[in-house]
Amino acid sequence: MLRILLIALVFAVFIAFLSRRQSAGKTNNSENSKLTATRIVKCALCDVHVAEEDALESKGQFFCCVEHRQNLDKGSLQ
Ligand SMILES: [Zn+2]
Repeated sequence: MLRILLIALVFAVFIAFLSRRQSAGKTNNSENSKLTATRIVKCALCDVHVAEEDALESKGQFFCCVEHRQNLDKGSLQ
């Protein structure tokens, strides 16, 4: 009888552990959807799309990297 109770207890703890992991996964998913909600901007030189927070802004335009921003500063737009 004691053995059955012990097995039931282990099973209950296992179920509780699984449901906790599932709810943790749900919070991770909502964090991911927040990340994908960031605005995407286009590099003014090569048209590569980058997240606004990763892009470099200069004179109201966005760039994917320092080199492309410097190209605009030199006035060598192709
Ligand atoms: Zn670029």
